[in-house]
Amino acid sequence: MTTERIRGRTARRRVNRMRELEGRVERLEEELRWLRRAVEANGERVGAKAVGRCPNCGEGLLSASGSELRCSSCGYAKFL
Ligand SMILES: [Zn+2]
Repeated sequence: MTTERIRGRTARRRVNRMRELEGRVERLEEELRWLRRAVEANGERVGAKAVGRCPNCGEGLLSASGSELRCSSCGYAKFL
């Protein structure tokens, strides 16, 4: 195998690794944004508990307070 070929393979491997890392960073950033919203939502609503991602907008956070579930970003609400 030529040096040129080996170099090409190493470069491709590096590109793949970079893409993998980029994907991971993006997922972690999204998770972090979401967790930050969870913390903010918990701070805003005393006694509310973050329960999950909003099924309506997919962005906001659903928090439960008593028998009510409410989204922090789109206002979606559901009574249990
Ligand atoms: Zn929502």
